Amino acid sequence: MKILVPVKRVIDYNVKPRIKADGSGIDLANVKMSMNPFDEIAVEEAIRLAEAGAAEEVVVVSIGPAKAQETLRTAMAMGADRGILVETDDEVEPLAVAKILKAVVEEEGPGLVVMGKQAIDDDSNQTGQMLAALWGRPQGTFASKVEIDGDSVSVTREVDAGLETVKLSMPAVITTDLRLNEPRYASLPNIMKAKSKPLATKAPADYGVDTAPRLKLLKVEEPPVRQAGIKVGSVDELVTKLKELGISA
Ligand code: AMP
Repeated sequence: MKILVPVKRVIDYNVKPRIKADGSGIDLANVKMSMNPFDEIAVEEAIRLAEAGAAEEVVVVSIGPAKAQETLRTAMAMGADRGILVETDDEVEPLAVAKILKAVVEEEGPGLVVMGKQAIDDDSNQTGQMLAALWGRPQGTFASKVEIDGDSVSVTREVDAGLETVKLSMPAVITTDLRLNEPRYASLPNIMKAKSKPLATKAPADYGVDTAPRLKLLKVEEPPVRQAGIKVGSVDELVTKLKELGISA
């Protein structure tokens, strides 16, 4: 079985995003970019499944600028076998990403697509669900445990009420939650080895997908600054203050 892992290059999770002065978006000039953290978890899970003998090949795919090659190389240094870069400088929305992934899936024929539950730049949480719908295959989202059993896969999901386990027939789409695993660090020898792993470059047009945005970004702004709190000396004072502020218990 082959496992396909879509990985997105996003602003590093440690970086505090700066908004452009005209409010037209986030300033990405000279900002550290990394693999989306949920996608690192997806790569790790795919590699573990391959190490356990459940898969023969892990293929990583990224849709983004030429620099997304670095993200693919990081995934290959962790252990993925080869990469596909679908190169575009445009901002690609989840529906277009899902359409491209569907075309890649048709070409590659994976038994599983393991991807992040959301990309931390746009927080859409849409692409996995859209891919499953376009592909007409089952989905197990927010996975905290994945177990392959013959032609099916059991996915334990983190839902509000606790943990839910679903059994999907493969091929299927799985999206990862934080507690699924702890991604490994790539060792220096593996970083060197990854440089010679195969990396194919394509364009969205090769898959017949129009990436023109359907949404118009109107404005990006900082959240309001939180007001400082005050300390009260007694319950009576607290009640008086709450009344003054018009807050009832
Ligand atoms: P989103 O729906 O944008 O929150 O993204 C969910 C997941 O879809 C991510 O964690 C990635 O696995 C995948 N994904 C989204 N955008 C891309 C992209 N441009 N290239 C590769 N994978 C992507």
